Amino acid sequence: MTYFATQNALYKLFVRCKDIEEKIFLKRNIRYAPRKIFVQSIRMKNGSRGLPVVHHSKYVCELPPNHRFPMGKFPRVLHFLIKDQVISEKQVCTPSLASEELLGGVHTKQYLDNFIQGKIPENDQKRTGFPWSEGIVRRCRYETGGTVLAVEIALERGLACSTAGGTHHAFPSFGSGFCLLNDLAVAAKHWMGVSPTRRKVLIVDLDVHQGDGTAYIFREEPDVFTFSVHCGKNFPVRKQQSDLDVSMDDGMEDKEYLETVQAHLPWLLESFRPDLVLYDAGVDPHWEDELGRLRLTDNGLYQRDLYVIDTVVKRGIPVATVIGGGYSKDIDRLALRHSIVHRAATKVWKQQGM
Ligand SMILES: [Zn+2]
Repeated sequence: MTYFATQNALYKLFVRCKDIEEKIFLKRNIRYAPRKIFVQSIRMKNGSRGLPVVHHSKYVCELPPNHRFPMGKFPRVLHFLIKDQVISEKQVCTPSLASEELLGGVHTKQYLDNFIQGKIPENDQKRTGFPWSEGIVRRCRYETGGTVLAVEIALERGLACSTAGGTHHAFPSFGSGFCLLNDLAVAAKHWMGVSPTRRKVLIVDLDVHQGDGTAYIFREEPDVFTFSVHCGKNFPVRKQQSDLDVSMDDGMEDKEYLETVQAHLPWLLESFRPDLVLYDAGVDPHWEDELGRLRLTDNGLYQRDLYVIDTVVKRGIPVATVIGGGYSKDIDRLALRHSIVHRAATKVWKQQGM
């Protein structure tokens, strides 16, 4: 295992939030108290007191026959959550399409114009793994809107989970590795931009691939800390520098993986003191994954997700989760695996009486 931290990371960790209200809030250990009014209003609108799950039927689009991206997984994640009575339909919140203005917080105008109008050069399209289509543009914009909504709901209710998101390989001016818009970066920047006071975001990226696009976007942003645990020999070949990178060797199993996450998350939360955690719960570290090189089991993923969500929620910090990567030709098996994070979040939601 190898650790990398940037000079910037040291600076970011010593920047403490001086918000007095927050200090009182933390000392009294009252969770989400300042936002109680909003909590009530969302409950009434939503009609449910359960874990909010963000989903849109347009998270999917047509792909050429035999395309290797498992596009069909998104509606199946929701299908299994409802079928297995993990959630009810009342808990589902529908996002809007991310506007160009919202996306412009992270992506260059030229890239967005080319992407939306279908003018991405062929070589750039190859790098993304997707041929351009109107459907893919719409899909990515709904997916990004979904992550933005999950953040907004998490800030009011403490926890919210999308059934898509985690497109961490997208850079400001190009897409890469099945990622066209960086939803994590767009959501983080949007919230920081609309907040009246200074806010800090910790991005916990446990997808098996390094969150290179996100690391690049926030390399000089003191209020966002990027933490990536990934397989060192996996894509991308040329890594960027996250604020903290933990590079795993091939074949790592549940116990050592979980111990690694447990060794870092608490001190990061204590030192950086984020106001929000964005959690990319990619399931590609699973032993059966077609692109991963680690050996986690279903239970290992469940313990990982439970640990991350529980640790953050117990500190009174809102968490929004995205599903990240996962690759299998067996769509239902894969969708069930992606639903692990929602099952873990549901358990925390109930245990904490949220
Ligand atoms: Zn991945």
